[in-house]
Amino acid sequence: MGFAMVHNDGTKKNKKSLVKRLVRKYYKEELKEQINKYRNAILADCEYFYVADITADVVIKSPDFKDDKTGMKDLNLQFPMGFNTYIQAWKSTLQPIYKETHAFRAQTREELLGAFTAGERNIQMDYKLKDKDIYFRKTTLLYERGRDGHLMATVVIHDITNERADEESHRLLLEALQNVCSSIFEGNLVDNFAQKFKSSGSTGNHVPNAGRWDDLIEIWAGKTLTEDVYNKNKDFWDRTSLRARLRTTNILTRDIQTITGWIQVSIIVTTRDSMGQAVKVLWLTRSIDEQKKAEILATERLKEATKNADHDELTGLYNRHGFNKRLGRIVTDPRRHICSVIMMDIDDFKSVNDTYGHDAGDEVMKRIARTLKNIIRKDDLYCRWGGEEFNAFIYSGGDAEVIAERIRKAVEDMAVVYEGKVIRVTLSIGVCMVSDMKKITMNEIINTADRCLYISKRSGKNTVTVERI
Ligand code: GH3
Ligand code: MG
Ligand code: MG
Repeated sequence: MGFAMVHNDGTKKNKKSLVKRLVRKYYKEELKEQINKYRNAILADCEYFYVADITADVVIKSPDFKDDKTGMKDLNLQFPMGFNTYIQAWKSTLQPIYKETHAFRAQTREELLGAFTAGERNIQMDYKLKDKDIYFRKTTLLYERGRDGHLMATVVIHDITNERADEESHRLLLEALQNVCSSIFEGNLVDNFAQKFKSSGSTGNHVPNAGRWDDLIEIWAGKTLTEDVYNKNKDFWDRTSLRARLRTTNILTRDIQTITGWIQVSIIVTTRDSMGQAVKVLWLTRSIDEQKKAEILATERLKEATKNADHDELTGLYNRHGFNKRLGRIVTDPRRHICSVIMMDIDDFKSVNDTYGHDAGDEVMKRIARTLKNIIRKDDLYCRWGGEEFNAFIYSGGDAEVIAERIRKAVEDMAVVYEGKVIRVTLSIGVCMVSDMKKITMNEIINTADRCLYISKRSGKNTVTVERI
């Protein structure tokens, strides 16, 4: 009892001396209790600590807390003292920074009473030291004292200069990202909480402003992605796997195809706990549809371009370069040791050109290419080796002689009709059949096949000559 009475009663002078007396009696214990209660908070860089009886309008401060940094020391305040007077003094060195997000800008005794009535129990206000770049956070913990129902306030003040620098860079980062990103979420992977900062277009309009991380991302993904894409990327936003991957990196990105176009999602760690685990992250999306389409087009063009470099324009077969490129891949397979090379050359082709014209010769070349396509298996490799020569590489090798003979016969039987005239040609063929590829180089195989081809030419053309090595 008593304080309400003190407050309502007596002259200013009487009140002052009476309060002083009572403070000694009642508040010493209170202060000790509160210091004990908030020991951990106090140990963590606490600059200043006081207890106020809001109902009785008294501030009491322990002499253990020297207000060196806040500049209050120079004011030579005599405790105990009235709350609003104290706050006035406080304001002469410290300038409040109102946080937009905070519901109550409670500073005065009346404001604190109002805040308490409205259900506030923990009020934070930031202050800047006038003329200096030093910042403090005042945390006011409101409670109703059991023994007399007085509204009490325990106030802890921390230096947050470093924290603010982090917050400031965080804010600047967000501001910069606003221009680049179509949607921004901040997530707490530990608390499973996410908050939307920005969303536009199809990248998050339908997502609530805040809620569980799991839910928000699922809602986003469910409405933005096809089932296929959703399943393929589920691991990307799953909190458990995400935290595991964020152990070793601060940023993860993934290109994802949404229903309306390609986006790039980046997840950036902004806070880690003392164990180094990611706690807070930013989830950012930006449209990369234009780039992605250009990239896909470029890849297709590149494929087309290399196809031209690897293929013969007239026949569509691989040219020698394309043939060798693929041959290189085949012969590195250690499981293969049997192979054959079939070299083919059109007989007296010069005279075909001379008789029917170069275009007719071209037509013959194309027909021979088609014949090779029909006879040689898809797994095997064949090409236009150059001029009117063709070359084939047969993997299994065992039936190369049969294949060669089949080609020879097919070309012999082939009648190319060009501008009403029937053209017939034949092939000379050389085959090299190899039983152990490891013992011979590809050059040696080709040279042997070439030598056989030469023998076929010498022995009257339209012939297959085989050598086994
Ligand atoms: P051989 O039986 O000894 O092979 O006689 P050949 O006339 O076939 O040989 P030669 O090497 O004397 O001539 C090859 C001819 O093939 C000459 C060349 O004009 C022709 N040729 C090479 N490439 C093409 C082509 O793409 N189109 C046409 N129409 N002719 C080609
Ligand atoms: Mg020839
Ligand atoms: Mg030739």
